[in-house]
Amino acid sequence: MDSIFDMPAPADAEERRGKPPVVVYPNGTLPPVDMDVLRAARQTMTKIAEIIVPAREGGSFRVPKGHFFRIVSVEGAQVGDLNLWNAADLSERFFSGKTRALHATHVGVGDRLWSTLPYLRPMATITHDTLGWYGWDADGAGVHDVIGTRCDPYTNRLLNGDDYHRCCHSNLSRALAKEMNIPVQEAEFHVHDVLNVFMCTGFTRDTHQYFMKASPVRPGDFLEFFAEIDLLGALSACPGGDCGSEHSSDTVPCYPLLVEIWRPEPETLAGRAFPERNAYPRTHGL
Ligand SMILES: [Zn+2]
Repeated sequence: MDSIFDMPAPADAEERRGKPPVVVYPNGTLPPVDMDVLRAARQTMTKIAEIIVPAREGGSFRVPKGHFFRIVSVEGAQVGDLNLWNAADLSERFFSGKTRALHATHVGVGDRLWSTLPYLRPMATITHDTLGWYGWDADGAGVHDVIGTRCDPYTNRLLNGDDYHRCCHSNLSRALAKEMNIPVQEAEFHVHDVLNVFMCTGFTRDTHQYFMKASPVRPGDFLEFFAEIDLLGALSACPGGDCGSEHSSDTVPCYPLLVEIWRPEPETLAGRAFPERNAYPRTHGL
């Protein structure tokens, strides 16, 4: 046998394959997002801070609850790897896998970035995406995925046998270490699977392997979020640049990314309910 798939099919194989797919978490079962309120709020917002993340580097930023933040393309096509934490408790952080299960492999306007168990609440809501026109291309690719993990020096050592220190995992670790004034070896335990901002990815149709292709992002494009809780963020300008050829090297052109923090008029959010930590009592049947 050539592979584990060279197995004789049972007589009812087609019947078994013919069962209908059921969306695990159907649209409409999540608590509704008050996009009308957020749209009205963003009409009143003013920029209060901005941070440049240099090419092949990481940077950190804080966003108060009820503010917006944007990740902006500047200078050239560049992918960004985003981590988010509860600013008051690093154990609550972005949960890429559950966000993928609740929404899709790629996220867009109206989708939320959910936090890890046992907290599981929206950390941020996506409120604007200038790449929203991209949709799904002929290869089945889309932008802003929650599939990939982040490029890291351990996988690079495993596959290439050498050490590269500008992978997103290291960039995010250094950024968090600096922000929290902790050793980088401690910081890296808090770094987690990312939102791949501006990255264009999918799965190959024949082998279902994760693929990337050159990002369609151009200077001036941005992805905008509303902070549902007080956030600490870290962003890496991936050494893969537009991720159209390779990553984990100094080979391809890379560009900075800009993070902007925007404050809306507070009265536009008066009476709005912000998400609390998940109410499950954590007794797990005991
Ligand atoms: Zn990367």
